[in-house]
This record gives sequence, structure tokens and C-alpha cells, in this order.
Amino acid sequence: MSSRPIVIESISAMQRLVREAQRKGERVGLVPTMGALHAGHLSLVQTAKQQCELAITTIFVNPTQFAPHEDLAKYPRTLAADLELLATERCDYVFVPTPDTMYPPGFSTYVDPPAVAQPWEGVCRPVHFRGVTTVVQKLFGIIPADVAFFGQKDFQQAAVIRRMVADLNTPIEIVVCPTVREADGLAMSSRNRYLSAAEREQALALSRALHRAELLRNQGERNATKLIDEMKSVLTAAGITRIEYVTLADRDSLAELTELDRPAVVLIACFVGSTRLIDNLLLSP
Ligand code: AMP
Repeated sequence: MSSRPIVIESISAMQRLVREAQRKGERVGLVPTMGALHAGHLSLVQTAKQQCELAITTIFVNPTQFAPHEDLAKYPRTLAADLELLATERCDYVFVPTPDTMYPPGFSTYVDPPAVAQPWEGVCRPVHFRGVTTVVQKLFGIIPADVAFFGQKDFQQAAVIRRMVADLNTPIEIVVCPTVREADGLAMSSRNRYLSAAEREQALALSRALHRAELLRNQGERNATKLIDEMKSVLTAAGITRIEYVTLADRDSLAELTELDRPAVVLIACFVGSTRLIDNLLLSP
């Protein structure tokens, strides 16, 4: 049996509820999302339910993290289906604010993101992380949870959030959960539903490219240029021509490496048709 989570739209109601739970000694877990939920999001909710007495998911398509030319207007909004899925995970509460609740008239304060936001996504999507840090810090104020859960799928985002809470002394633990993939390797993403059948096939090249890097590492390859060139050729062989970046980076600073000589991450961003996809894989020497 699954019961629908309670939907809350009001900031003050949300804050009250969290404080009351914490007064009773309950641990509160937060899962921020933009909705259009899939098994990747649900894995975060499952982890929250395992680690906390109270699990709260937020669903908010945050306008400030989209550039004017990006997909804010067409971003999938599937609230009824999302609530059904959250019910199956026994999520306790869902915070679904309106854009006006989050950004009332006169809103003008933003969180300047940390240095780790500058490369990669920061270059391709210059306003993105400022929107992310701002909305996540606001959500941490509205839902002062004990712990918040993020996905490794958005590797740089998780690094940005970790740095932000450390720099701003926000009293919340950050847990990063593994990327959930389709059976054929495609990292789950709300944007996968934009893909045509042919593009869905092409998109498999991202995870194939990551695994090519891993295979080469297993064979002893440590040169970043060789690893990156091989990954790029997997993408181009699949017909992917709009590659934004393919890199081997230091796992903490995200600085580009020339050699795989420390714990690293391989990061990919590219367009499959008109859909921008990202993926990553941890790689150690
Ligand atoms: P989004 O709704 O895309 O903003 O994602 C909300 C949260 O879910 C973020 O912390 C994402 O990193 C995480 N997430 C998205 N896709 C996946 C996935 N395939 N596996 C694990 N976590 C994910």
C-alpha cells in the first residue's frame, strides 16, 4: 500500500513542519528536484527514507538556472505522475512552490557560486550555477533539513553544493548518491524524454565513451589526451558532432589533468540532436 505524500506550497508551513519533526528528535532528509521524476530521483528518496525519519522532496523548475535560450518553457512538468511515484517510495512531504513564492516581486539577492563552478558547465552555461546555488540555499532555508541528497549524475553540481555549504556554514550534511542508469547504460535524465528513437540510440555513446576510458585505464593508459581523444571518437562515430566538453579532471577541484595520476572524474557534455546531455564516471589511476 502506498499513500500520497502531503503536498505543501507554503514556506512557513514547511519551516514549521521541519522544526516540529526535529524537536521530536527526528532526522529530516531533503531531496531537491525539478520534477519529471525517474528512478534516479527515486533512488535519492529511497536513501533519504533509509537514513531519515522524515523525507521531503521538492519539485520546482527553477527559472534562474536556465539561460533565455534554454529549455525552461518546454521542461517536462508531470506533477500528478511525480506524486504517484513519490507515494510508492513513501515520501512524506512534497514542497511544490510557485515561481512567485520562490521569487517574489523585488527579489534581487543571489548566491555567487564557488570557484569549482567556473570550468565545464560554468563555461557552457554561464548563469546556470548561480541559479542553482541561489535556489538550493533558499531551499535549505525553507527546509532546514539535517541532510540533503544529490545525484552523482550532476557531478559538478554536487561539488558546487558541497563547497557552498562549507563556505556559508550551512548546517546541512550533503550526501551524493550514485548515478542510476537504464539497463543499456544511458544515465537517467528528465531530458531523455526529448530524444527520438534514433537519438535515444545515439545517446548510448555517452556511457560507451566513459567505459572506453575505463577500459583504456585498465590497459594501463594514463595520458589524458589519449583518453579524451578515444572518448571523442566514440561520440563522433555515433554521429554526435556537437561536443561541448570531454575531459579528465581532478575529482575535487575539477581542474583538467594531463595525466591520470590521482582520483579523477571523466566528464562529458554534448548535444544529441537538440538535447543537451551530460554524464560522468569516476576514474582512479
Ligand atoms: P533534476 O531534477 O534533474 O534537477 O535532479 C534532481 C536531483 O536528482 C539532482 O541531485 C540530480 O543529480 C539527481 N539525479 C538526476 N538524475 C539522476 C540519476 N540518473 N541518478 C542519480 N541521481 C540523479
